[in-house]
Amino acid sequence: MKIVFATGNPHKLQEINEIAQGSGIEFVLPPDGFDPIENGTAFEENSLIKAREAARISNMISLADDSGLCTEALNGAPGIHSARYEKTAQKRIEKLLNALKNEKNRKAKFVCAMTLVDPQGKILFETVGECHGEIALKQSGTNGFGYDPIFIVDGTGKTMAELSENEKNKISHRGKALRKVLNALKNLTIFSDGVDNILNEL
Ligand code: IMP
Repeated sequence: MKIVFATGNPHKLQEINEIAQGSGIEFVLPPDGFDPIENGTAFEENSLIKAREAARISNMISLADDSGLCTEALNGAPGIHSARYEKTAQKRIEKLLNALKNEKNRKAKFVCAMTLVDPQGKILFETVGECHGEIALKQSGTNGFGYDPIFIVDGTGKTMAELSENEKNKISHRGKALRKVLNALKNLTIFSDGVDNILNEL
């Protein structure tokens, strides 16, 4: 079964499809013209905006995620502004390391809110996945993307960028959220011409 994944980022789509391998679900990109206005004030809100926009232009069941990095010492920043904190990934890393210079509290978490909607935009399931850790003093590792080189995953002693793709998917905020979505999908009755008979207690 195909579900639209509300992103323009092929790397994210690939990550999602790797996690979903064996579930019988294939995530596909939205049609051209997918350009949601992410003006929400929370991950959950932006995730819903993206999912509804993908459903509107594809007329298919759509899943969206909205994610980011939250630090305790900076009251949750960069948070929902993670992608726009600076112009490039490297500059975003440098800005965050600078903002936490001399800061002892380096606790942080990656958050991923996911929303599954039907073709009419009705919410079928929503959930949040978190991955806890701390911000390193300097970057290391070359895997992954974004803030991975400065995020030390609790219990591993490694940055996210030092983990293999497989290891990251097992513990990541996105992996955790997606596994809950896939589990919920098992309880949905979905017909090829739309969605019917959806269990209310999702
Ligand atoms: P989104 O595409 O609007 O959800 O933006 C999320 C932003 O948060 C990305 O551009 C990254 O900067 C950051 N981010 C989210 N997930 C990850 C991750 O798994 N690793 C590193 N950075 C991430």
